[in-house]
Amino acid sequence: MTDGSLAGGLPAISETDHSVLAAWLEARGEPAYRARQVLAGAHRSGADGFDGLTDLPAGLRDLLATAFRFSTIDASHVIGADGGLTAKAVHELHDGQRIESVLMRYPAHGRSAARTTICISSQAGCAVNCPFCATGQAGFGRQLTPGEIVDQVLHWHRPPWRSLDDGLPGHYNVVFMGMGEPLNNADRVFEAVRLLNDPHRLGIGARHITVSTSGVVPGMDRMIEELPQVNLAISLHAATDVLRDELVPINRKWPIDEVVGAGRRFAARTGRRVSLEYVMIDGMNDDDAQADGLATLARGWRSHVNLIPLNPTPGSAWSGTPRLGVERFAARLRSGGVGVTIRDTRGREIEAACGQLHAQLAGRSLRPGAPAVATPA
Ligand code: SAH
Ligand code: SF4
Repeated sequence: MTDGSLAGGLPAISETDHSVLAAWLEARGEPAYRARQVLAGAHRSGADGFDGLTDLPAGLRDLLATAFRFSTIDASHVIGADGGLTAKAVHELHDGQRIESVLMRYPAHGRSAARTTICISSQAGCAVNCPFCATGQAGFGRQLTPGEIVDQVLHWHRPPWRSLDDGLPGHYNVVFMGMGEPLNNADRVFEAVRLLNDPHRLGIGARHITVSTSGVVPGMDRMIEELPQVNLAISLHAATDVLRDELVPINRKWPIDEVVGAGRRFAARTGRRVSLEYVMIDGMNDDDAQADGLATLARGWRSHVNLIPLNPTPGSAWSGTPRLGVERFAARLRSGGVGVTIRDTRGREIEAACGQLHAQLAGRSLRPGAPAVATPA
């Protein structure tokens, strides 16, 4: 448990240690196996309250509800897009902060199997202030607790979403690419990853989890030591410090050399490939010189470049590089010996795409105190 978990009143079950829960149960005369039963029920049954844990005695369910919160999320409002393949949830927390998570389903095609990705937030808002990102423009709210991070994933385990994903635990990916800079909240994010990994909870393999960072070097070095199996993505977005100082202001603290150096250390020490994210902004960072600079930075170690066409955000006049320009940039990188993927732009119409998350619900409002709403697309 963390101090933050108590701010909303009762401790949340999603961030209560097994040993704490076991001691609480034991003090009430319950057998030792109950702690695992409660954790499994809370994480795997799809129930949305202690009432739904029907393999527990009714008296115990009532007792649990007096001592623990079932979820740190008070209410969720869901909007669907892309013919039901994408859904965004705006989650309201106990203090009125709003955060967002996104479900993306990719149907099987060709030889690639169907997969599902859940994109979650690590902070309410973000202090890094990248000018092309709606989260950055909205400013920083507060850190999320481990339970608030886990509960976003749990949201998508409940009907009707559970039946929509191919989503038995372990069969989907979790990416820290929602609101916030995860490595500016590293202790709680790392604890959330351990909770997500826990086989008695969701049991999501570390290799199915990705942390995306704007370049917090000490946090990347901690990942090498503490989470070497988790995937690392670095939001590079520029190949020169002059440009990156503007696009990713944290570059003034940790410039490109240090950021790429940390990525190289991660790849060397873990043997794993690091993603370099590069948002393509028309006339800003999409010329041949940037492509060649990026190729130099990415070459010769286990890295892979993901090109993300810029998604529109309300506060920014910039637009995305046209498709042809993105393809030309990709071709130039490839001929420079770099692996490249052009990412799709899922969820634009509901402001669920990369960088569009700002918890405004596109004009819709959440009813205060409303129960969790799960609206199928
Ligand atoms: N704060 C972390 C993780 C969340 S942002 C980070 O910056 O890495 C997830 C990704 O979306 C980052 O690569 C970010 O740079 C990118 N992004 C932000 N705004 C965007 C926009 N308007 N269009 C496309 N991608 C954007
Ligand atoms: Fe924060 Fe990432 Fe947005 Fe930059 S791109 S403001 S680091 S969430």
